[in-house]
Amino acid sequence: MKVHVIGAGPAGSIAAISAIRNGHEVVMSEDHPVSGIPENCSGLFSKDGLDSLNSFIDYRKLIINPINGADIHLGTAMLRIRKKGTVAYVCDRAGLDQQFAANAQSIGAKINYGERITGQGDFRADTNHIIGADGPFSFVAKHFGFPKITKFASTIQADLPYRCEDPHAVEVFLSNEKFPGFFAWVIPHDEYTAEFGVGTELNGKNKAIDAWNNLLRLKGVDYKEPVKGATIPLSVRPKTAMRKGPYSVSLVGDAAGQVKSTTGGGVIFGGNCAAIAGKHIGQPLKYESEWRAKFGMDLLIHSKVHDYVAKLTDSQLSALGHRLKKLNADGFLSEEGHMDKPTKMIGPPALFHVMKNIAGLL
Ligand SMILES: Cc1cc2nc3c(=O)[nH]c(=O)nc-3n(C[C@H](O)[C@H](O)[C@H](O)COP(=O)(O)OP(=O)(O)OC[C@H]3O[C@@H](n4cnc5c(N)ncnc54)[C@H](O)[C@@H]3O)c2cc1C
Repeated sequence: MKVHVIGAGPAGSIAAISAIRNGHEVVMSEDHPVSGIPENCSGLFSKDGLDSLNSFIDYRKLIINPINGADIHLGTAMLRIRKKGTVAYVCDRAGLDQQFAANAQSIGAKINYGERITGQGDFRADTNHIIGADGPFSFVAKHFGFPKITKFASTIQADLPYRCEDPHAVEVFLSNEKFPGFFAWVIPHDEYTAEFGVGTELNGKNKAIDAWNNLLRLKGVDYKEPVKGATIPLSVRPKTAMRKGPYSVSLVGDAAGQVKSTTGGGVIFGGNCAAIAGKHIGQPLKYESEWRAKFGMDLLIHSKVHDYVAKLTDSQLSALGHRLKKLNADGFLSEEGHMDKPTKMIGPPALFHVMKNIAGLL
């Protein structure tokens, strides 16, 4: 069958590769003249997550910095998590998108760069199979009447000269007074450079600029250069695939809202879901049920944790942080923490932690 993929970001290219491997022909439309630019991403991915996509990309040449931990500030409390080895990589995100797209092209995908889909007449006439991989403001989703994404974060980020105390650990700041509804981050690229970023939940007034100034003040950094802004979807669409008239339509990646609402990370979940979409061309409901069975629970837990934390005052956040420290949560996360999949930590690892470190039974 022929497939029209809209968007050549990571999700679109992975869906294309998967569809071609499953015997289909793919044409892609990409608004920009090249994939991955403009770059609006911190490029931080779990090692496990990147490995889960290794049949689509060899990411090793795109690594900028290995990461083995995080300092998570909850109000006045700080959880210091350090893993024994590398758990994540900061990668060249534009390079990653370009490599995914080149890999799709190398097995036969035709990518029409500079082609923006804006109306019914822009869909290819020779196929009814459409994959919407066109990001958080998906035209495809709107055109076919999918339910809306209801929550977004507005972000600002820039690479700054910065002396990193630990160049392999990220810093995360949760404070609903300074960064309402989301958080701020410092992600080291090396000893002397880091990406600074903030996100705030978008409801009414956009508070990202205030949050950015709060982060600079908090870190004692003066920075007057231009900064980039972008948007992250924070809720999964209740429906991501449908038949409509002659069309079968699947949404993947940010277009579907397949993003961890706690961190805004979307490449790993979106990419894995896109691989499933490519397997089920013409069977949108199979796609929907398979991706929800594999990843729905993890995305739901991220969303519940985000919604809970977003409602806390800074003093409640501090109290929570101090309580977690007493429960040796940083010790637990250092041993058992998983960046993407909270379901991996629930069950035997959590029970073991409670028995050993809290109840002192083992
Ligand atoms: C500040 C920030 C930091 C982030 N950091 C991380 C991180 O560290 N790790 C992580 O995993 N995720 C991160 N994310 C999220 C991540 O960038 C997204 O989840 C990811 O880009 C989603 O991939 P996608 O292919 O679904 O969509 P996109 O990457 O948005 O690609 C969509 C493509 O579709 C094209 N397009 C859109 N509309 C049309 C149209 N009508 N016609 C044709 N083409 C169209 C666009 O040009 C674009 O190339 C971050 C996001 C932001 C904003």
